[in-house]
Amino acid sequence: MNSTSPLLQVEDIHVIYDQVILGTRGVSLTVPEGQVVALLGANGAGKSSTLKAISGLIGAEGGQVVQGRIVYAGHAVDQVDAADLVERGLVQVLEGRHCFPHLDVEENLRVGAFVRRPSRGALQDGLERIYRYFPRLLERRRSPAGYLSGGEQQMLALGRALIAAPRLVLLDEPSMGLAPRIVAEIFEIIRRLNREEGVSFLLAEQNAAMALRYADQAHVLENGQVVTAGPARELADREDIRSFYLGVGAEGRRSFRAVRHYHGRRREA
Ligand code: ATP
Repeated sequence: MNSTSPLLQVEDIHVIYDQVILGTRGVSLTVPEGQVVALLGANGAGKSSTLKAISGLIGAEGGQVVQGRIVYAGHAVDQVDAADLVERGLVQVLEGRHCFPHLDVEENLRVGAFVRRPSRGALQDGLERIYRYFPRLLERRRSPAGYLSGGEQQMLALGRALIAAPRLVLLDEPSMGLAPRIVAEIFEIIRRLNREEGVSFLLAEQNAAMALRYADQAHVLENGQVVTAGPARELADREDIRSFYLGVGAEGRRSFRAVRHYHGRRREA
């Protein structure tokens, strides 16, 4: 990979499920090394399909990439399976914070480390590193994961992905169902991991306000296509984005859902 090529390049990918249902209809995006890139859009816009196409998990969902190219760290990875990609430093944290509920926090973290078959010392270093970023996990290290709060489970899912020292983390809806204070705490940790360890992130979010505050770049998806993209700060200042995605338009609308509803009703009228 030369120094100017991005860490991840996705070109015109089309994802279909069960041979007919369209997941994406030509998504292109890049993640430069060391950046946080956000993928914004409403329910069903194609965010998860894009992430799973990249991580190699799409097949497990009955989906398939039927067109396009995915290049990671200078290599085409369209045909590479998920386990191989994890070994190459590309991991996905699935939506819904999947943890093993009967295993305790530390056991869950050890499972994450296992893919790299670390020595005992490396495993200990990895655990200490994760506990430094997530002190709540240290406090709860002997609790079964099933007893953790939603925010702690999201931290555990993230910690488990990070313990293998990845280069690129794909993160699906880290804010889902969490209180704003916890969401901010998680985004702060993501930013620190990015700045201090150089981990790159591609994160799918419906919470556009939070994602734009922390990301370097953003892409907005609608109906399986990128409808706009650019530096996160510029998007956050744009009138159309503010109106549609941040819910601060001239009419005083409060949420994207309300905007959609409002526009739908206007169309019906
Ligand atoms: P959400 O936040 O609801 O997950 P999203 O932006 O991540 O939304 P996707 O989950 O990628 O969107 O969905 C894109 C399209 O693909 C939708 O029409 C959805 O119904 C369809 N889809 C997603 N997963 C599957 C699946 N496993 N089988 C069939 N269709 C699917």
